[in-house]
Amino acid sequence: MNHKRIITLDLGECSGCQACVELSSRCFGWDENMDKPVLVQCEVTDEEALELISYCPQDCIAFDGGENSEQV
Ligand code: SF4
Repeated sequence: MNHKRIITLDLGECSGCQACVELSSRCFGWDENMDKPVLVQCEVTDEEALELISYCPQDCIAFDGGENSEQV
């Protein structure tokens, strides 16, 4: 039913606010050395993708349709 979206993470502007990790520990882990998030699970639903993107104040998170897009 849902399209799968592939989340991408660009840490260029990342402030390390941890909002992404707090929102989804399934998708994001935390690199203690770099003090930045790391992608763990990048395949999400449309809804999750939009929520994650809206949570990042620095616009680090984006998504594309992915190669595994499922259309029903
Ligand atoms: S929400 Fe955005 S700015 Fe905050 S830690 Fe995650 S990627 Fe970085």
